[in-house]
Amino acid sequence: MPGTPGLRPHGKTVPETTRRSNRSLLLQGVFDDGPVSRADLARSTGLGRATVSEITADLIAEGLVVESGRGESTGGKPPTLLELDPDGRFTVAVDLSRHPISAALLNLRGRIVERASGRTIQPVHREVLEELHRVIGELMGQATAPALGIGIGVPGTVDREGNVVESEQLRWSAAPLRDEIEDVYGLPTYVAGDAEAAAVAEFGRAGFDPTGRSLYVKVDDRVALGVITADRLNRTPIHGGDLTHLRMRGWSDDCGCGRTGCLASRVSMIQILGPDYLDMSTEARQRLAAETDPRIDRAARYLGLALAPIVMALDADRVVIGGQLGEWGTVPEGVVAGIEEYAGWVPEVATTRLGSSAVVLGAAAMVLSGELGVVWG
Ligand SMILES: [Zn+2]
Repeated sequence: MPGTPGLRPHGKTVPETTRRSNRSLLLQGVFDDGPVSRADLARSTGLGRATVSEITADLIAEGLVVESGRGESTGGKPPTLLELDPDGRFTVAVDLSRHPISAALLNLRGRIVERASGRTIQPVHREVLEELHRVIGELMGQATAPALGIGIGVPGTVDREGNVVESEQLRWSAAPLRDEIEDVYGLPTYVAGDAEAAAVAEFGRAGFDPTGRSLYVKVDDRVALGVITADRLNRTPIHGGDLTHLRMRGWSDDCGCGRTGCLASRVSMIQILGPDYLDMSTEARQRLAAETDPRIDRAARYLGLALAPIVMALDADRVVIGGQLGEWGTVPEGVVAGIEEYAGWVPEVATTRLGSSAVVLGAAAMVLSGELGVVWG
C-alpha cells in the first residue's frame, strides 16, 4: 500500500507501471471532462485509440465509468460519451481529532452522502477503537456499492506504514492502526495525521498551483502542520509536524504537559475557551467566542509569531488556518500581524474553506489517489 499519497497522475512513466498510469490518466480525464468521447480522451491524454478503448472497457466492466448517450457528430456516427459513475464506489473516512469522532461516507465525486459520529466526547485508549469500528460499521451498512477503501486522520504522528507513533489526545502510542483496520474489513486503508489529511483536502485538488508551497495549520487541542510542496504532501512520520509543545521564549503559562511556555498554552482551543468547550454546541462556542475575541486575536498573533520561521524556511506562498481556530473570521489578520512582525513579509493567509469536513475529505482523497490515481477537481 503506498504510504505517501501522490496528488495527481503524472504523464507516462516506466513500463511496468505504464498500464496503471494510463488507467489513472484516462480515469482523471473522465473525472475532469466527462461526459466525454473516447476520441477526446485519446486527444487529451495523448494515448492511442486502441489503448483508450481497451482501458475504458475495463473501467466500464468495473462499474467506475458508464456510457451516457451520444455527443455531437463530427461528420460520421455521433460518438458514445463516457462519464464517471459517481456512486460506483464509496469511501469511508474518519476524523479522529473531533469531539466526538466524526466519519463520513463519500461517493467518488467526494460528496458526503452519510455522516456518523462517535458517542463519547473525548474517547481515549481502547474506547477510540470501539468508536472507530462503530462508525465504520454504521457507514458500511449504508453503502450502496463496494467500498474503495478506508481513510483515517489521526490527531498525532503517523508513520509511513500507518502506525500511530504517538497521539496525546487519544492516549495512543505505537498503535498499528492501518493493519488492524485492514485485517478487520479487508479494505485498503490509509492513515495520516489529521493536519496532513486536511492539507491534502485543501491543496490537493486538480487545478491547484502545482508549484505552490502551502502550509495548513490545524489548531484544536493541539497545533499541527500539514505541508504541501511541489504538488506532494510532505509526510511528517517522526514528530507529526506538531508545534503544540514548541516552547516560546519569555512565556511562563502552564501547559497540560507539565512544562511552561508551550505554544499550546496560549494557542490551543482548550486554553482559549476553557476545557468545557468540548461539550458545547456550535452556537454556544460562537457565543463564547464573541466574548473572548481579544483572546482569539491574541492567539492568532502568537500563532503567526511561531509560524514566521517556518513560513520563511519554506518560502510559503499560502497559509491556511484550519481546525476550530479556523472557524473565527478575525484569525487571518492576527496571523498576518504575527508573521509580519517576525518575518517582515507575509504570504496569503486564509481560513479553511472546508470547515469541519477538511479531515474526512482529505482522508477520502488519499484513498482515491492511492487506489485509483485520481484527484478531485
Ligand atoms: Zn506543553
